[in-house]
Amino acid sequence: TGASSSTSSNPVGEGQKLPGVVLDKDGKPCRLCTSAASWRTMAKKASAGGMAAGAAVAATSSSSSASSTSTSSPSSLPSSLTSSTTATTTTKPECPPDVEELGRSTWTLLHSLTATYPTRASAEQQTEMRSFLGLFSKLYPCWVCAEDFRSWIADPSGKNQPRLSSRAEFGQWMCEAHNAVNRKLGKKEFDCNFWEERWRTGWKD
Ligand code: FAD
Repeated sequence: TGASSSTSSNPVGEGQKLPGVVLDKDGKPCRLCTSAASWRTMAKKASAGGMAAGAAVAATSSSSSASSTSTSSPSSLPSSLTSSTTATTTTKPECPPDVEELGRSTWTLLHSLTATYPTRASAEQQTEMRSFLGLFSKLYPCWVCAEDFRSWIADPSGKNQPRLSSRAEFGQWMCEAHNAVNRKLGKKEFDCNFWEERWRTGWKD
């Protein structure tokens, strides 16, 4: 690849070694070629040397025209805050979720709860799930979402009350609940005949 580990062409500071840091052809550190651990070590050395770690790395990459050393995330981030620590993938800072990411993750949890629900639920199991849904609809972190969800469940006709006697019923109900949100957001509705394929059994070939 032409990349090599740097000890001589040191972009951080005179005399500092950069073990494991792979250089681009132009002699600058190649972030996409270097493990996050080595990158961090380099950043720490830069920091200890009196140069801000981010600035050190920016200085080593910003003037590069031929390399792929673009640093889309602050190099000084600890690995616990990055989504990848492999040598060849760009690391991205993990940020707090937005409404969509929160929603996707939550629907995964909710539909998975239906997928693992008993085929015939005991009275106690139904009570537990009812209680979970009651608390969930109060505590869901997007408060406007939670409010609308509660209103939907509490429809005066009673038609949206959770149906919890069996997995089949609960799965169907959750699909309808999700479709109510889909409709509100102008999204395509999901065909609830396929909720089990999507969330439990997988699709038939
Ligand atoms: P999502 O809607 O998150 O769906 C994820 C996956 O589930 C889809 O890719 C599809 O495979 C599958 N799926 C889709 N529909 C169904 C269904 N009916 N049954 C089974 N599986 C299905 N966002 C807002 O902006 N405003 C709100 O008021 C709001 N309220 C929400 C209320 C709740 C209780 C939850 C959990 C989320 C809410 N969200 C809200 C988030 C919103 O529903 C989406 O999660 C978000 O917009 C991301 O959408 P998405 O297109 O990635 O797919």
